[in-house]
Amino acid sequence: MLYGAVEAGGTKFVCAVGDEKGNITDLIQLKTETPDVTMPAVVDFFRKYDLKAIGVGSFGPVDIDPTSATYGYITATPKTAWKNYPILKTLQDGLRVPVAFDTDVNAAAYGEWKRGAAKGLDGCLYITVGTGIGAGAIVGGRVLQGFSHPEMGHIFVRRHPDDRYEGKCPYHKDCLEGLAAGPALEERWGKKGAELADRPEVWEMEASYLAEALVQYILILTPKKIIMGGGVMKQAQLFPLIRQKVRRLLNGYMPFPYVEDEIDDYIVPPALGDRAGITGALMMAIDRE
Ligand code: ADP
Ligand code: ZN
Repeated sequence: MLYGAVEAGGTKFVCAVGDEKGNITDLIQLKTETPDVTMPAVVDFFRKYDLKAIGVGSFGPVDIDPTSATYGYITATPKTAWKNYPILKTLQDGLRVPVAFDTDVNAAAYGEWKRGAAKGLDGCLYITVGTGIGAGAIVGGRVLQGFSHPEMGHIFVRRHPDDRYEGKCPYHKDCLEGLAAGPALEERWGKKGAELADRPEVWEMEASYLAEALVQYILILTPKKIIMGGGVMKQAQLFPLIRQKVRRLLNGYMPFPYVEDEIDDYIVPPALGDRAGITGALMMAIDRE
């Protein structure tokens, strides 16, 4: 039995085919062009296979309400060619198979929960720090969702006392994403994140913002595992800084082993590496109701 998976990103699309256990057997990467270029290539890749279902984790915001007229649409993205684009319908029409649909970060959370760092737990939080910041949560065995998917990248955090940068979010300026995503790092310090590796003050400030956010997620959701991925988290030096700052901010208020004794095993990089999202999309196809 074969299943398909799509990780739809703002810069690249990853398409994969895998078996019913979630093992990937074929995978391609496509550059994200306009939908009329990218989507036919996606459909062509899957046409070679007889698939039982496809799972999609998409960049967003997306409409994930199955009762909505625009279910499966990418909605308010700044990538204008993809604005109000019916990605789910295009796949269903092109391939005639059931499609499970969610955000990219929910798919990554799902992948890490089923096959990665949170395997065996009843949930986790997955946060990506890349071109944007977003997070997906699985709580009590269910993907957390209200009237829409959470937007955890746009929460407000206290400002670092040395930070004079105004922030980059087009909606809020200095929300978490506006202060701590890759483009904000680049604009504040004048160089790309990867070129700032040897500047301790950069990572001290970055870790402060991310720790402020994690503490809010911990207080509200009490996730049993926090997985941090995305390009900026390739700076492995962030992990010990974030763990230390989270403990300092909580200040003993949550006397649980997760934060007290086992924090090195609590705030972790993805066990599936760059494959968290695509693996999660595949598992969504396999497990769809
Ligand atoms: P996307 O969020 O578009 O899916 P990524 O997760 O790769 O893609 O994030 C891209 C962002 O991460 C860019 O702003 C880039 O500058 C930054 N980035 C990529 N690699 C590194 C690195 N090694 N160190 C710090 N920042 C990085
Ligand atoms: Zn914002």
